[in-house]
Amino acid sequence: MKRVYNFSAGPSMMPEPVLKRAAAEMLDYQGSGQSVMEMSHRSKIFEGIISSAESLLREVMNIPDNYKVLFLQGGASSQFAMVPLNLMTKNKKADFVLTGQWATKAYKEAARYGTANVVASSKDKTFSYIPDLDPQTFSKYADYFHICLNNTIYGTKFHTLPETGDVPLVADVSSCILSEPIDVSKFGLLYAGAQKNMAPAGLTVVIIREDLIGHAMEVTPTMFNYQTHADNNSMFNTPPCYSIYMCMLVLDWLKNTIGGLEEMKKINEKKAGILYNFLDNSKLFKGTVVPKDRSLMNIPFVTGSEELDAKFVKEAEEHGFVNIKGHRSVGGMRASIYNAMPVEGVEKLVDFMAAFEKKNG
Ligand SMILES: *Cc1c(COP(=O)(O)O)cnc(C)c1O
Repeated sequence: MKRVYNFSAGPSMMPEPVLKRAAAEMLDYQGSGQSVMEMSHRSKIFEGIISSAESLLREVMNIPDNYKVLFLQGGASSQFAMVPLNLMTKNKKADFVLTGQWATKAYKEAARYGTANVVASSKDKTFSYIPDLDPQTFSKYADYFHICLNNTIYGTKFHTLPETGDVPLVADVSSCILSEPIDVSKFGLLYAGAQKNMAPAGLTVVIIREDLIGHAMEVTPTMFNYQTHADNNSMFNTPPCYSIYMCMLVLDWLKNTIGGLEEMKKINEKKAGILYNFLDNSKLFKGTVVPKDRSLMNIPFVTGSEELDAKFVKEAEEHGFVNIKGHRSVGGMRASIYNAMPVEGVEKLVDFMAAFEKKNG
């Protein structure tokens, strides 16, 4: 069996020990005589899975007690509507920082439900930096302030959070959740599609401060009301059972094999450091992001020649480095190096880039 290094932005690699454990438990989960895929979500055994996924997430992320953890579906994209339907209800306005396509989608969707105000944007330079924010320009009495913490397509990350005072900070953390510690208490709400760093596609995690639940607009569909899911422990309807199980295995791996998010951060910094260091010293390849705003997870780079970029992508694939083509809006390449990408995968990629540079530089 040959496994490739998958640099996809998502769905992405899963930790190998997690896949092996899932394989071993596939036909008979802990003596139940059934696969987790086959189980009733109302069974005691599945209740054990969802509650241990939640308690592991609370422990690994150090989530305060006054926050609810919700296991939902619909992707981060559904949260672009669910957040305003539930939160944009007091003064009917919210602030947005446009740092890429996902942030812009969140803004456009919210604008259907109230007054969506753009505080700053980095569109002028293809979202290659995080704009400076001046709290003087923030709306007074906004219902929330939205950011995309890590911009998957452009490879930027907020390294300091906006000072929003009493206005709840809401963040899309799809591509950086679990990559390093995060102070949950600084946020009103965090949401993430699981398929980057948590689990296979199908699960969406929401972490919401309790006082923000229960104020949804009258028209809000039952399934889009956070209250529905908070009141029913994420079991109002059938949850994405298998993804929740895989999430539990990933969290168990993070806690017991890696040693928690401080350790995960060190590994992620090491991996990103290897690639950024190479890019900063290469005469052929260069990173596209302002160094101070660089992401640990998504690293776009270019050669400056579309032809060479295409050649690189093709040869990389032949050598087992797959899905490294950049997003069409940036071009070039993008290496997404989420938690499950081993250090060795990045080292080998850099060796391959050096050899490519020697031949083509
Ligand atoms: C992948 C991604 C999304 C889209 O997630 P879906 O689960 O496909 O809806 C949204 N925001 C960010 C930051 C992402 O990386």
